[in-house]
This record gives sequence, C-alpha cells and structure tokens, in this order.
Amino acid sequence: MHKLRAGMWGTYEKCDTPPALLVSLLHHVRATHPDVAYILWSGDNSAHNVHEVTRRQTVAANQAVTDLLRRVFPRALVLPAVGNHDSHPVNSFPPPTLGGRFSNGWLFSALRRMWRPLLDGRLGGGRRIEHSFEQTFHPYGYYYVRAAADGFRILVLNTNYCYTLNFWTLLEARDPGGQLRWLVAQLAEAEAAGERVHILGHISPGDETCRPDWSHQYSRVIHRFRATVRAQFFSHTHLDEFQVALDGAGRPFSTVYIAPSVSPWTSLNPGYKIYHVQPDTWEVIDTEHWATDLEVANRSPHRLPRWFALASARRAYRLATLRPADWLALTRRMARDRRLFDIVYSTYWGGSRRRKPCRASCRKKILCNIVTFDRSSDRHCEIIKSKLKG
Ligand SMILES: [Zn+2]
Repeated sequence: MHKLRAGMWGTYEKCDTPPALLVSLLHHVRATHPDVAYILWSGDNSAHNVHEVTRRQTVAANQAVTDLLRRVFPRALVLPAVGNHDSHPVNSFPPPTLGGRFSNGWLFSALRRMWRPLLDGRLGGGRRIEHSFEQTFHPYGYYYVRAAADGFRILVLNTNYCYTLNFWTLLEARDPGGQLRWLVAQLAEAEAAGERVHILGHISPGDETCRPDWSHQYSRVIHRFRATVRAQFFSHTHLDEFQVALDGAGRPFSTVYIAPSVSPWTSLNPGYKIYHVQPDTWEVIDTEHWATDLEVANRSPHRLPRWFALASARRAYRLATLRPADWLALTRRMARDRRLFDIVYSTYWGGSRRRKPCRASCRKKILCNIVTFDRSSDRHCEIIKSKLKG
C-alpha cells in the first residue's frame, strides 16, 4: 500500500490544518497587521473525517479554535459565522422551529456560550458596537453587529439554511429560521438610518450548492438594497474566489468575496485575506491575499513558515476600483485573455504549484460561476461562454 506522510506544516493531500500551522498564521496576522479593525471568521472548524466524530468532538473543535483566537487576539472584535462542518452530523441544520430530539439547540447554546465574548472587542480598537448575538444567534445562527456612530452594520448569516447537503431543507425550504425576512428587516432599518452594510456567512448564496429558490430570493433582496450593501464575504470552497451579482439586464450590483482557507485541503497553499475598506463609505478598496508556500515550508520543518503577500487585487488584476463593474470588466477580460485568467486562477489556489490544471471546460465553469450569483438562472453564463477565447 502506498503511504503518504504529512509534513510538519501539513500536506496538499486530503488532510486538514495542523494546529501549529494555524498558530503560525494567527501570530503572523497579529505581527503584520496590528491595525485590523475587526476579524471575519467564516467557519468550518472541524476536520474532514466528518463521519467519525461525535457531538462532543465537534463542540471541542469549535472550542479549540475559539480559545486560540482569543489568546492571540484578546481584545479584537471577532465575528464568527457557522460553517457546515460546525454541526453534527455534518451539514445538519434543522429548521429552528423543529424542537425535540432533532433540534440542534445543543450546538447553538454551546456556540453562544463560547462565542459571545468575541463580540466584546471594539471596532478598530476604539468604538463600541451593539449586537443581537444573545437574542438571535440561538436558535437561528444569525445576528447583527452595529456601529451606529460609524453608520455601519454587519449582518452575519447562517447560510447552511440554503445548502443542498443540509437535508433538512427538504423539510422546510422556503425561509428556514425566517432568515430572509430578518435580512430584509435589517436592511430596511439600515437604509432608513443611512447606514452601510457588509454581509458575512459561510456558503455563498451564489454557490452551486445553494438551493436555487433560496438563492434567487436572496439575490432579489440584495438587488433591492444594492445601495446599502457594500460587500459580501463568504468562504466554504477553500479557494480565493469572487462573484459579481448581475441583474436581469446584465448590470452588476454587488461583489462577493470568497476567502481562501487556512487548510491546504486539497492541493492549495494555506492563506488568509486582508480587506482594505474606506472608513466613510465602507467600500472595499483593495484586497490582499497572504499565503505560505507549503512545499517550501515543509522543507524546513523547524523554521516557522514564511507568509507573504501573494496578490493585491488592484495591482495584480489592474483594477481602477473594486466596484462591481470593475470585477465584471475583469471577468470579461479573463474570458478573452488566457494569461490573465491563469494569473487569477493561480491566486485561487494561493499560488500552489499543485493546483489542478484548468482547461476549457474548467475555464467555462469558473467564469460561469463568477456571473451566476442567482442560482435559478444560467443566462449570464451563456453570455460569458460566448466570449471565451483561447
Ligand atoms: Zn464549508
């Protein structure tokens, strides 16, 4: 039997993050970016041996990452979102109205207890925030954070309620947990107060695994409040991706940033993302992907991995601003220019030399995914495919 052995800092094979790698990453963030205003923590804290673990181990994995974050960033405002791996059995998020033995109240009460102190941090180290964590996190998994003096609100969602592998959506699909209704109320309140909004969650509503009906309704909500929602942040795919939401006429109205994973699972370099935000408008003005080359790091197991800025979006992709129209223009250029596509694709994988090759059908899939935020229709995909060259 062929045996694979992981290096000190992990492996490109199907194997998750060694704790030492996560510790190294967090220490690097603290030393390199002392000015971060807040930390978005987008979920999936358990490993991929999903059918071998118990409830207790799932809670322990969440606790271990929480403790580590608290230790390295004792005063930072950390905003956690629930990932599909954070429940037990994996992907299991029953509608909160369902009580009894199928309820995952046990999970939300454990997470509420361990995550509540993360909300005590102050925005940018100074300003106080208010939040609904105690009221809404249990049993729904979503909450808001608001800095009224800054005209800023962050809505943290539980998008596991749209995940097709969350089989509970077969029981109730329309709006589990009343989350879309809550989202609309929050956005209406923010709009009336003249606030700007960022949205955080685990699975992008534009992901191919999000239910098309839910994705469609979500997209309609974001379109209605497009002047208020300044950016959306998700993860789940492990790749550094982006999506542009387009209306029926193909006009871009929102940008979705999908963060790279710390886990090298699979074939990718571990990384994290820094978002530069304009303080008055809350627009994202640049992004930086920081990574470590796992192959190089494993050659020197007794030396800490070297983390480096792989790409600034504006510099690497020659973007004037990071508005949705610029991301759409980039997508069109990627369809025409194979070299540019490869630069973006390499960043998807944290520059890993082990990244999977991307030929014609893969390029089509990626370009389609970028423009298909509303999963109920592939009309924008057909247009972008017709532009594909090379
Ligand atoms: Zn996930």
